[in-house]
Amino acid sequence: GGRSYSFMLRTKNPSGKVPNQLYLTMDDLADEFGIGTLRLTTRQTFQLHGVLKHNLKTVMSSIIKNMGSTLGACGDLNRNVLAPAAPYAKKDYLFAQETADNIAALLSPQSGFYYDMWVDGEQFMTAEAPEVVEARNDNSHGTNFVDSPEPIYGTQFLPRKFKIAVTVPTDNSVDLLTNDIGVVVVSDENGEPQEPLGYVPKEDILYAVKAIVVTQREHGRRDDRKYSRMKYLLSSWGIEKFRDVVEQYYGKKFEPPRDLPEWEFKSYLGWHEQGDGAWFCGLHVDSGRVGGNMKKTLREVIEKYRLDVRITPNQNIVLCDIKSEWKRSITTVLAQAGLLQPEFVDPLNQTAMACPAFPLCPLAITEAERGIPSILKRVRAMFEKVGLEYDESVVVRVTGCPNGCARPYMAEIARAFMDKVKIQDLEKVFEPLFYNWKLGRQAKESFGEFTTRMGFEKLKELISTYEGS
Ligand code: SF4
Repeated sequence: GGRSYSFMLRTKNPSGKVPNQLYLTMDDLADEFGIGTLRLTTRQTFQLHGVLKHNLKTVMSSIIKNMGSTLGACGDLNRNVLAPAAPYAKKDYLFAQETADNIAALLSPQSGFYYDMWVDGEQFMTAEAPEVVEARNDNSHGTNFVDSPEPIYGTQFLPRKFKIAVTVPTDNSVDLLTNDIGVVVVSDENGEPQEPLGYVPKEDILYAVKAIVVTQREHGRRDDRKYSRMKYLLSSWGIEKFRDVVEQYYGKKFEPPRDLPEWEFKSYLGWHEQGDGAWFCGLHVDSGRVGGNMKKTLREVIEKYRLDVRITPNQNIVLCDIKSEWKRSITTVLAQAGLLQPEFVDPLNQTAMACPAFPLCPLAITEAERGIPSILKRVRAMFEKVGLEYDESVVVRVTGCPNGCARPYMAEIARAFMDKVKIQDLEKVFEPLFYNWKLGRQAKESFGEFTTRMGFEKLKELISTYEGS
């Protein structure tokens, strides 16, 4: 045993799609070779903790045989491509998901050594769409390296991890702006990313993505890991120069960006119609950890009805393709296990997220997943004390190190407010803030907006002069 001999594995599932057989395999592997639980990640993948080195090959080949490649799920290349998890039978959703699949395929490392490293060259099947093969092999504008086994990554991989999400207008279940590339699939009508690069016709999406990735590969900083993500290249160049360079690789000009309607957070919890006669059902999973009774019940249902599932970027799970005639019995089973009560999941819990941290992540310097339940309870208690309603919410994110695996920079207050606050002082800091928010907020002002309007200096003053609600 021992931490240094156990491995963490991450799968790769564009759009969070998990075929029935893969779910069952992961469920078995967690018991047999892991720590008995599955973790759903913010990149719509599985993580399996605690795999021992001598079991690695068995685990890897089981996953690959069951269609969940772990390829490229880690390291300095493209991470799992996000797309809305909802299995809606709607053209725009389907196209966003298909685009995510195609981008993932386009950016998959090609060289055998990468597979061999993991599975001793055990063969696995790949079936690729012709448009992917064509886009990858197109060598115009220097976007390929003909002699290299890695047509896109070239002789070296990307300077740092690279994140891509695809979505449809209004659906921000993928937290679009936390990605290096955000693709919004605009159907007939019509995005408002912070600095939109531009609009490209449907058939050019893969070429445009490839041009952006190659721009980062060629120009991203490799001398300092702290500044090697693409956002630093973008901020040092500015959007104009960045666009010019990408356009050279792309070989065309981008069209001006289209206007997009406002983004909404979509959780997909509870029952929804897919639009093809079937239903899907979203279940909340605390910190993405599937264990115990939940694991057992999910397995039963998923196995019995041969359901495919999807993982959402909020670490929840969606059961797909449920026929109307199964809905009642599935509802009963899920309700009995306490899984089907989106209305009973504390609103604080629905947007909260924690990374695994201790004891699972070697980089952890603090608790996160094990600490978040009690933090959320204390936040709820403060809400009650100062008279905030049950359905009020703040976005709480907890990570074990500055790496930020639970997207802390998308939490309610996106900047560091105080350094090294002791956990026992949580109330001392937050109760005065919640109290003043309730008292002094403007119509519908969120806690984050309130703190921004007040300014950090003023807030610290409020904390020091607070005398209780
Ligand atoms: Fe590990 Fe840090 Fe990521 Fe948490 S945020 S999982 S501690 S690397």
